Amino acid sequence: VESYDLVIIGSGPAGEVGAIRASQLGLKVALIEKEKHLGGTCLNWGCIPTKALLHAATTYDKLQKVADQGFEIGEVSYQWDKILSRKETIVDQQRKGLVFLMKKNKVTVYEGLGKLKDRNTVQIGDSTTIQAKNILLATGSRVRELPFAKADGELIHNSDTVLSIKKIPKSMGIIGGGVIGCEFASLFSRFGTEVHIIELFPQILPTEDDESVAEVTRNFKKYGVKISTNAKVKGISKSKDSVTVEFEDGKKHSFENVLVSIGREAVTANIGIEACGVKRDERSGFITVNEHYQTAVPHIYAVGDIINTPALAHTASAEAMHAVERIAGHHPPVINYDANPTAIYCYPEIASIGKTERALKEAGVDYAVAKFPFAPMAKAKIEDMTQGFVKILYGKKYHDILGVHIVHAKATEFIAEFVLGKVLETTIDEIGQAIHPHPTLSETIMEAAHVANGAAIHL
Ligand SMILES: Cc1cc2nc3c(=O)[nH]c(=O)nc-3n(C[C@H](O)[C@H](O)[C@H](O)COP(=O)(O)OP(=O)(O)OC[C@H]3O[C@@H](n4cnc5c(N)ncnc54)[C@H](O)[C@@H]3O)c2cc1C
Repeated sequence: VESYDLVIIGSGPAGEVGAIRASQLGLKVALIEKEKHLGGTCLNWGCIPTKALLHAATTYDKLQKVADQGFEIGEVSYQWDKILSRKETIVDQQRKGLVFLMKKNKVTVYEGLGKLKDRNTVQIGDSTTIQAKNILLATGSRVRELPFAKADGELIHNSDTVLSIKKIPKSMGIIGGGVIGCEFASLFSRFGTEVHIIELFPQILPTEDDESVAEVTRNFKKYGVKISTNAKVKGISKSKDSVTVEFEDGKKHSFENVLVSIGREAVTANIGIEACGVKRDERSGFITVNEHYQTAVPHIYAVGDIINTPALAHTASAEAMHAVERIAGHHPPVINYDANPTAIYCYPEIASIGKTERALKEAGVDYAVAKFPFAPMAKAKIEDMTQGFVKILYGKKYHDILGVHIVHAKATEFIAEFVLGKVLETTIDEIGQAIHPHPTLSETIMEAAHVANGAAIHL
């Protein structure tokens, strides 16, 4: 029986990053993946394919507007199958990259369903068993289905099947206005689909700052996206070429397609944890861990979408790095989730860090707001990306940064400045003093910071 210092189950952003780092630290590592390809949700059904399609929507949108910049290109059309195959090519290149990286780092990859047999034994499929000094559980999450509206990949989709949708539909009902629902609303509405978001809560993107949501909502309206909030779906019926959604109040709407995006669930059942004493919350399915991602069994760790931390790829990777560094005997600092960015790739994008205004008010924190729009900035006009703002929430006493909310076509790129700022415990004054290059979009951050010191310069 082969024996390893570390056996990792699941090869998503948690498992693959953990495997590489562990190997770099001198551990003998095995990585188990049940699917044909490495990379998990993120690479195969999440971050990467969605962003490839969203990029196509942005390109299509831009091409339709280039006349304003002096170009004449006639009517813009697209071939959806080519857009899908470009997405597949990108995903495939990244998959091959992962195979290469595992070989380069001497990680032994096993294909098959991994299951804990006991605290130091992992079974792969029916026939293979390996021994593990330490185990990292990184089995991730899967689509949560609506029992009466299961995806058929034709009329009703979930976030997995919609990635290969055969054509852009005329109309789409999106059940669930969270991050995934809003990203797909941005995708399809920019390709001309009449999108209707149906959200149970009083607002879409309920965990985001209200002003960010208002800005994105305004833009959705420009693209004809309808939003129903406080709306509960009671039933669904299919005909040959349409789906009818029935609301609790009796109203009905018909769509060419429906996308169900009501969230994801942790994959923690049937992986053998019960037999080993690893604890999980029975309601949520999340595995219980300490701040170093150790489960109730100290040499078994759990990270990523299977624990109750933000379900994001970069978070999963950071947790995995922390766990394996601990396994290798290092003492990395505990992860500060206030410095963990959120990135939402709707249009315009939302990127945030730290607290929302709502949360600060509820906690009774004495805070102030420094906000600056992109609209007056020369570079924003040049690049035709004037929509959005930078909003910094800071403590009145020490000018420490409590929360940042950026809405812009490139918001997810800008938030990294604040991640570093937060790690270095910077103040809003220091961000204002830091010279930003001109002309850039990032100057907007400096301008927003100036607000805290009296006034913005260019407003
Ligand atoms: C549509 C969509 C878009 C997203 N976009 C973004 C984004 O832009 N940015 C971002 O940060 N996050 C995004 N996410 C979230 C991100 O994909 C997840 O947070 C991330 O993939 C979690 O990583 P993980 O390693 O914990 O799990 P996963 O990526 O889910 O990987 C788990 C792996 O474990 C394997 N596995 C499960 N059980 C077993 C078993 N018993 N044996 C062997 N293998 C097993 C699975 O097959 C899978 O490959 C998106 C998600 C979706 C669905």
